[in-house]
Amino acid sequence: MTFAIHGLPVARGIAIGRAVLVVSSRIDVAHYFIKPEQTETEIDRVRMARDAVAEELQKLQASVALMGPNDAPHELAALLEVHQMLLQDEVLTGGVKHWIVERLYNAEWALTTQLEVVARQFDEMEDEYLRERKADLEQVVERLLHRMKGTAAVLAPNPPRRKRAAENDDEQADPTTNDAFDAPLVLIAHDLSPADMLQFKKSVFAGFVTDVGGRTSHTAIVARSMDIPAVVGARSASQLVRQDDWVIIDGDSGVMIVDPSPIILAEYGFKQRQGDLERGRLSRLRHKPAVTLDGQRVELLANIEMPEDSIGAVKAGAVGVGLFRSEFLFMGREAQRMTRLPDEEEQYQAYKRAVEGMQGMPVTIRTIDVGADKPLDGKSVRDDAHLNPALGLRAIRWSLADPAMFLTQLRAILRAAAHGEIHLLIPMLAHVSEIRQTLSLVDFARAELDNRGVVHGNVKVGAMIEIPAAALTLKTFLKYFDFLSIGTNDLIQYTLAIDRADESVAHLYDPAHPAVLRLVADTIAECRRQGKGVSVCGEMAGDVVFTRLLLGLGLRSFSMHPSQILAVKQEVLRADTTKLEAWAQGVLEAEDPAAALVR
Ligand code: PEP
Ligand code: MG
Repeated sequence: MTFAIHGLPVARGIAIGRAVLVVSSRIDVAHYFIKPEQTETEIDRVRMARDAVAEELQKLQASVALMGPNDAPHELAALLEVHQMLLQDEVLTGGVKHWIVERLYNAEWALTTQLEVVARQFDEMEDEYLRERKADLEQVVERLLHRMKGTAAVLAPNPPRRKRAAENDDEQADPTTNDAFDAPLVLIAHDLSPADMLQFKKSVFAGFVTDVGGRTSHTAIVARSMDIPAVVGARSASQLVRQDDWVIIDGDSGVMIVDPSPIILAEYGFKQRQGDLERGRLSRLRHKPAVTLDGQRVELLANIEMPEDSIGAVKAGAVGVGLFRSEFLFMGREAQRMTRLPDEEEQYQAYKRAVEGMQGMPVTIRTIDVGADKPLDGKSVRDDAHLNPALGLRAIRWSLADPAMFLTQLRAILRAAAHGEIHLLIPMLAHVSEIRQTLSLVDFARAELDNRGVVHGNVKVGAMIEIPAAALTLKTFLKYFDFLSIGTNDLIQYTLAIDRADESVAHLYDPAHPAVLRLVADTIAECRRQGKGVSVCGEMAGDVVFTRLLLGLGLRSFSMHPSQILAVKQEVLRADTTKLEAWAQGVLEAEDPAAALVR
């Protein structure tokens, strides 16, 4: 039966494919594809874990048998017996094998996927006793996952080749005729950490949907950087969709259609082809300089998460990197069996790769910004519901709380600056004391390298304006820094007191709120007055709805995901800033700027 689920649109386009459910479990499990030749190893890992858990349960059963009825109630023995049965059940083990062999999921992913499949069967049972066995099954799977910890294989560098939706043959109106392996895959999850998302970035999903999240949550940002249709905040999507269901993701309107009828499939197949044509048209702008009708040069920079993203940035026509979110080098390392934090050499090599990838164009490296919705280990911060992590130890606060870690990063960046133009960007500053401390640590890192006789380069140092307090004390910021970069994602969150990752208040997360626009406008104006560089690197910079307004406010440097560059360039090429200035001031004064923007 066809039905639709509504959420928030994150990344444009249409994806049609089979659902891959990624189930959240109480244990943090890694999800990655293995190489075909690793299937036996993964099956063995499950088998060994199963044998170990069976032995563990046998020992428990034996000790229970020795206890008297007062110490060990009869139910306990029965429960252990049930766990043994579930552990050996062919539905569980056979299913796990299926996901490993047919889908090349790693063992943990296969196990949690099969758990979800079987748990749903339990949910549908009439008999209450049997329905309650679901909890036992979950416990058995958790025991297995615990046993498998530390035995994970190394990630497959090249995940199995699958078609992305856009790669379907044009004439193939009904993609559901693809065989199961060849069909594009669409990722559905309750929640995904940015670290998990990064794992999936290396794979070939055609689209993705989560139950939770806001449009500028970091998970959504990584999804956008994958340039595949995505919807977040789809509430119960992961409950309603089953493994392997055919789904359509409409990233333009934020809708997912489950089990589409042939007519709906044909309609979306048409939309998909229209989108591909539009992309083709835009790609002709790649080598055109971004200059407005009145001759104003505009710098279109890329936001990247990993050094290798620089390749896509160059391809998209970026003239530099305006934001390298370096924290992604620090995330998801446990799943890859790497050291908890990257050391100086590893970071240096990564920054150097980004610089080299940009072929002489400048790279702005933002120092680590973990915390809030970007935990290091992929564990959801939602677990700490009593705290507000967005207001906690995040970004520069985290760095200043761990100077050794921060100095390591600073040294690595300064060393990489010997290979090309690097700008150092500091996130989430608000206090002059933080500014002074940060800058003295930069000096200290430089002195350390001098003392060690290590080659390093000069960097311009800039600050992100993403807390209203910073936007209201620009004079201080401009006294200390060479340039500013406006992080509108957080500036909106902190100005409006709306958690950017919380879908339940997403309707109030408003980039066009007059207070937000005022802070953005004042920052641009003050930088221009003082002749300092200013750019916007939040999602607003890549949203074509705001291009003309930002140009009218005097912005000449925009940083965004490579996939957004050409659409923004098209707006720039059509703009006449002499006409936009007065209009932009009018939008600023409007009671409802969003309405004024479209006029
Ligand atoms: C921002 O806050 O706008 C920004 C670019 O930084 P991040 O999205 O990584 O918090
Ligand atoms: Mg930010």
